Amino acid sequence: MFARFISEAVGLYWKAMNGSSRIRMTAVSLALSGLFLAWTQAPQAPAGNQLTIEKIADDLHVLVGSGGNVAVYTTNAGLILVDDKFERNVPEILEKVKTISDKPIRYVLNTHQHGDHTGGNAMIKDKTGAVLFAHVNARDNMVERKMPGVPGETFTDKKTIKLGGKQVQAYYFGRGHTNGDAVYVFPARKTMHMGDLFSYGGPFLDYSSKASGVEIGTTLGKALGMKVETVIPGHGPISKKEDLATYRREIETAVSRVKQQKSAGVAKDQLKVKTDDLKICCKNQLWERSMQGIWDEVAK
Ligand SMILES: [Zn+2]
Repeated sequence: MFARFISEAVGLYWKAMNGSSRIRMTAVSLALSGLFLAWTQAPQAPAGNQLTIEKIADDLHVLVGSGGNVAVYTTNAGLILVDDKFERNVPEILEKVKTISDKPIRYVLNTHQHGDHTGGNAMIKDKTGAVLFAHVNARDNMVERKMPGVPGETFTDKKTIKLGGKQVQAYYFGRGHTNGDAVYVFPARKTMHMGDLFSYGGPFLDYSSKASGVEIGTTLGKALGMKVETVIPGHGPISKKEDLATYRREIETAVSRVKQQKSAGVAKDQLKVKTDDLKICCKNQLWERSMQGIWDEVAK
């Protein structure tokens, strides 16, 4: 999932930069923030047949494939989506949503600002008039990066979104993947969408958006306090609360190993942290990059 996500981003970056002098930059020198920007801003052709629908309940589905997982919550008064992948996925998102319900999309709730979760914002708002909603820091990050589809509604600590007699609760539990990660709870379905606070193979700590490897364990601990059974990760399969607990434990193990190496005098670019005994966490290239950020955080 993440290998594809990186190669997609790098591909788009090169496409966007093609013909300019920046083509001479090496792939290694690409800042991750640049990748995210390229992702969101590079022209993207519509993509079809990449998504599958998974059912959690009659009124709660997940669109899986290409970009972050999208939750679709059905009410009599319309639909609430959590995240909306890349812009090029919008035609297929709308097509798949229509097979679930003929009601209009009324809200898109973003888990954070990254382009594989907010890329559809502008087009969906344009086509449906849906309200875009996110944590205030995620919104600020989008404004700062001049990303399209900036949410018009935000929250700080907690907010309940009500529609058609149902509700979704938005929570902010602290820094983690970014400084603006929202967790969305569907209380009637004992389910929550974690965005990339829970991402198989990760975490990726986006330090350009004030992520924290030191604090993410505490943030995940608060999410684990929610009365839910099912957990939708940002990337990866629909999971159980126990899987999130495992992920949190593994992150804390990995972070403590970085700390041990730091105090043993290992240089930042020489970090080698054992992760082959971990099941969910710390498997991808983005984790490799995140380790150095943890080293920096610990050094402060
Ligand atoms: Zn992300």
